[in-house]
Amino acid sequence: MLLTWFSQNGRDLPWRRTRDPYAILVSEVMLQQTQVERVVTRYLEWLERWPTVDTLAAATTADVIRAWQGLGYNRRGLNLHHAARQIARDGWPDDLTQLPGVGPYTAAALARFAFGRDVLPVDTNVQRVQERTGHAFSPRAGQALMDLGATVCLARVPRCGLCPLAERCPSRGRRYEPLRKQSRFEGSFRQRRARTLRLVAAAERPLAALDAEAVDSLARDGLVRVEADVVALPGEATIRA
Ligand code: SF4
Repeated sequence: MLLTWFSQNGRDLPWRRTRDPYAILVSEVMLQQTQVERVVTRYLEWLERWPTVDTLAAATTADVIRAWQGLGYNRRGLNLHHAARQIARDGWPDDLTQLPGVGPYTAAALARFAFGRDVLPVDTNVQRVQERTGHAFSPRAGQALMDLGATVCLARVPRCGLCPLAERCPSRGRRYEPLRKQSRFEGSFRQRRARTLRLVAAAERPLAALDAEAVDSLARDGLVRVEADVVALPGEATIRA
């Protein structure tokens, strides 16, 4: 039932047309904290620019940080770059969580979608469907469950009338409390960091012209470096007056 529903209603996403572990790693890292609709174009652009692990490994850190702008949570871009360098040097590790920025969920998604291993990646959508149905699904159902959770078994008001699992679902017809809202980006420290990084990515700047607290935090994450009171992207020479 679920797989039939998926064959008719599944989302056609570019990273589903490949088994290339590198391409799937790029998509999974981008999807960690960015919505699918926003990721599609950025994923395609990224792969056009850096089509293989080796090309990304050879890129400069500054170029990677610039290319990540607008996706948010910039450390992900840096981690992806470090992961590419590690893979280019040592190959893919058996334990995928040894790659920078790859936690248990991303490792499971890679293991399933790139390497065909028998694991079910459980993201929040899949977890919700599992909890509501009380069913243990097979790894083959991974993408179908993701799409069901994203488009039908919604967090607050599930669309049970459209659900292929409705007949045997004990939660059918239930409504749920609003989830805790994501903390606001507007006015947040995360926004100050993003704004500061955007300025530095466009051109190096004197420290005095920037938000010092944000610079400090970005420098700790390796996203900028400060030399002689000039802030620049890592790996780029600063021009001194
Ligand atoms: S019947 Fe409703 S609650 Fe149950 S899995 Fe389907 S959409 Fe979710």
